[in-house]
Amino acid sequence: MVTIKSKKEIECMKEACKIVALMYQEIEKYIKPGISTWELDQIAEKAMKKFGGIPAQKGYPSGFKGVPNYPATTCISVNDEVIHGIPSKTKIIKEGDVVSIDTVALKDGFHGDAARTFLVGNVSKEAKRLVEVTKQAFFEGIQYAKPGNRIGDVCHAIGEYVHSQGYSVVREFQGHGIGRQMHEDPGIPNYGKAGRGIRLEPGMTLAIEPMVIQGKPNILELDDGWTIITEDGSLSAHYENTILITEKEPEILTILKK
Ligand code: MG
Repeated sequence: MVTIKSKKEIECMKEACKIVALMYQEIEKYIKPGISTWELDQIAEKAMKKFGGIPAQKGYPSGFKGVPNYPATTCISVNDEVIHGIPSKTKIIKEGDVVSIDTVALKDGFHGDAARTFLVGNVSKEAKRLVEVTKQAFFEGIQYAKPGNRIGDVCHAIGEYVHSQGYSVVREFQGHGIGRQMHEDPGIPNYGKAGRGIRLEPGMTLAIEPMVIQGKPNILELDDGWTIITEDGSLSAHYENTILITEKEPEILTILKK
């Protein structure tokens, strides 16, 4: 079901989303060569709690028999890891890495969800371009996130832009509605046909999240039951914000206002 948030619920969404934005602001300086992704996750969890949020991904059920619940506050996916990388003490960040972090904060019953991809030190030109295109894909998509348009218009814009840049979008994972539940309707693929799907209405809150691969779109799942990697070993990037559909332009809730 697609939920339309009341004024009061929107205020709660804003609070949850602000916590995520503050968390990213705080952890950025720690994303340096030599730190383990586990340490980074510890720092992120501390920051999220400090700002009043509950780490909502921690303990999230996999939905698959024999696969344990998600063990950490953040997903940290490095280089050819696409999403759902599990923080680990043995995974050390190196110069030149492309580090995608995804997290969800819960506050007063509502969720805020955002992902960022960080470049560590001197990275290749190609990696830089991939990360820029992934971020831009989000902005290309949300140009259509207005009342009267359909969700397919957003999906289509993201996919078209990414493909025009010579990259692939992940087909098996998608953005989503968000609110009291981390994942609500509608599903928001990063490709699709314009003019399809639900009509957007003020009060909808959506997590729009381009997941982009430098090479072919095919992905694999590691034996941990969570980590998704590119099949061809090429780099991947992720950029996500929770947005609010308003009467006019969408409001991005997980970016701090200046
Ligand atoms: Mg997310």
